[in-house]
Amino acid sequence: MKAMERIFGNGKVTDALMPYLTDPRLVRELAYINGQWVHGRSDSPVFNPATNDVIGHVPRLDAEQVTHAVDAAQTAFADWRGLMADERAALLMRWHDLILEHKEDLATLMVLEQGKPRADAQGEIDYGASFVRWFAEEGRRACGDTIPSHIPGAKLLTQREPVGVAALITPWNFPHAMITRKAAAALAIGCTLVIKPASETPFSALALAELAERAGFAPGVINVITGAGAELGEALCRDDRVRALSFTGSTQVGKQLLAACANTVKKCAMELGGNAPFIVLPDMDLKEAAQAAVAAKFQTAGQDCLAANRILVPRAHYEEFLDAFAGEMARIRVGNGLEAGVTMGPLIHRRAVENAQALVDDALAHGARLFAGNKHTGPGENFFLPVLLADVTPAMRVFREETFCPVAAVLPYDDTNQLLTLANDTEYGLAAYVFGHDQRQIWPLLDGLEFGMVAVNSVKMTGHCIPFGGIKHSGLGREGSRHGFDDFSNLKYACLGGL
Ligand code: NAP
Repeated sequence: MKAMERIFGNGKVTDALMPYLTDPRLVRELAYINGQWVHGRSDSPVFNPATNDVIGHVPRLDAEQVTHAVDAAQTAFADWRGLMADERAALLMRWHDLILEHKEDLATLMVLEQGKPRADAQGEIDYGASFVRWFAEEGRRACGDTIPSHIPGAKLLTQREPVGVAALITPWNFPHAMITRKAAAALAIGCTLVIKPASETPFSALALAELAERAGFAPGVINVITGAGAELGEALCRDDRVRALSFTGSTQVGKQLLAACANTVKKCAMELGGNAPFIVLPDMDLKEAAQAAVAAKFQTAGQDCLAANRILVPRAHYEEFLDAFAGEMARIRVGNGLEAGVTMGPLIHRRAVENAQALVDDALAHGARLFAGNKHTGPGENFFLPVLLADVTPAMRVFREETFCPVAAVLPYDDTNQLLTLANDTEYGLAAYVFGHDQRQIWPLLDGLEFGMVAVNSVKMTGHCIPFGGIKHSGLGREGSRHGFDDFSNLKYACLGGL
């Protein structure tokens, strides 16, 4: 009941939540190490971004407790890797089934700590669970190769081996799926885990640990630590027993972690920021393009590494597109994610709102046009209403930076050469969108766009079966698909001579 009191204590959200949170034991206010729920020396509050109410507390662990978590993961590794792939798959499938069984509660927790609309949170649980299922199945097919021999009388073969303990550091924008996308791959191949979720959204991670415990994972296989990223991250990077670090978060922190891992030569997977161009080709239906661009821009209130950050439109259709976009944008309903019909929630905290406003101010100061939006304040101090900026140029922050907020930046282009130059004019390289029909224009763009993922005529591009990841400053490695094992496994080569 303590957790219920914490969550419902202020009385403001009780009525909305009661029908949904059927299993209050999913709310864990302790970290999870070696199968035990543990305290820290102090606690940190967790806020509901829609209301700024404190919804609970989690321990602020220290470096010594990180070492305990790595001890536990290291001890559990031998048995875990020794299981048959089928046995690991069975546990993963039990976890998967429990996740889906508790989908509504997990979604409610996510809305509470992250703010996204309930339907989006439900979608994220499905998406997150799909990785658990995929890797449960894929782990049984983690085959090596036999190689035609160049040495007389020898057999040459490779086998995939788990690296050992893997540390997972994850962000707040997808607090469930960014964990399962990594964890399922690592577990299926035989690694044990120390997971460090974002301080804003620890409850989704701790609920996953609770369900893993119920699924029957042995103590130490999955550990979840909470506390300050810099302190815990430093301890994880320093520890030589941690053989892989898989990070999703900002490019700035990713670069620090890469440097910190150099000394222990860990495998590093980096899913970092994006600055996606959204390209409208001249033959595209403008209403359809505008609908797609609004969807690609405002998902998760723009706090999405795949968000359409720069929208490039042929000059001949520019004003017509802006009108269509503004019309579509006006349909977004901003509010508390628990309310029915809300399609965009708050930003994660006040700093994010201030950053959004600073980006708009910078653009306007450099000649952008405030085409639509942002005319009145949102329903709380962490809300920022959608904005449409026209006449954006590469000199503006909204063009250069990953904006991570509901500010759409649109600019015109004159020809394909200029289009490609503008689209690639960024240090990031995660995702790009192309909307149009003429294959003679689409194919050269597919070849010329310097991004890890290109979606043509589709806003949806991600999923369990595809290799998700970026190039340039957007990161290293791929998550999902069969390639998702690469960052958690080593290829061992064996030469069996004298046969
Ligand atoms: P962030 O500030 O980089 O934080 C991400 C995680 O790193 C959090 O768990 C954070 O812990 C931890 N952290 C912060 N400083 C650290 C340090 N010095 N050492 C070790 N860990 C540290 O990113 P965010 O604001 O949560 O997330 C937004 C970013 O994630 C955006 O750039 C977005 O594009 C990116 N992202 C990328 C993908 C992708 O797949 N490419 C997907 C989702 C998000 P604390 O919370 O305790 O500070």
